[in-house]
Amino acid sequence: MAKDSETNDFVQWRHAPASQWKFCPLCGQPLSAHEWDGKERRYCQHCGFVYWERALPAAAVLVYEPRQQQIVLVTRRYPPAVGGLTLPGGGVEFGESVAQAAIREVKEETGLDVVLDRQFGTWSTPTNETIISFFLGHPVGGSLRAGTDAADAQYFSLAQAPSLVFSLHDRVLQLFRTEMRMAFHLPTDGQGS
Ligand SMILES: [Zn+2]
Repeated sequence: MAKDSETNDFVQWRHAPASQWKFCPLCGQPLSAHEWDGKERRYCQHCGFVYWERALPAAAVLVYEPRQQQIVLVTRRYPPAVGGLTLPGGGVEFGESVAQAAIREVKEETGLDVVLDRQFGTWSTPTNETIISFFLGHPVGGSLRAGTDAADAQYFSLAQAPSLVFSLHDRVLQLFRTEMRMAFHLPTDGQGS
């Protein structure tokens, strides 16, 4: 796992609060504080730039292989949570749709070409800093290998997949597992639960 300092560095870079922004990204003048809608925003008195602090949009995919009832999980290469298992996914870049981001991230992290079957659901992460749209998809090409962003990528049995490092990913995987059990009357792990 990552050292704490490494994780903290990443978090501070990724989610630097508005109060830490010091200079205008457009004209380079110092930013000052101004209240809009009951919240303090960073504002440039020189050019009028306002920094609207927003949650980051992201996409992730339940890549499901129905014949073997297997799901693709990736091992994280970069902080936070290096070495932890997650669903493949990442941030939506400016200029692409959330579905395009989902397909691109799967390709980058796993080497697989996927078709998205449907959206599974959209939730905020526990800190409300990121909004993740989860899709259900299936592989149609490519070959499974760890991509640039991942230390490893492999198939796991859906019934026996291990816990995922991010609680939201883990809950989504559990939801999907429950849904598939109900749809196909697969045996449960528990006794009559
Ligand atoms: Zn400015």
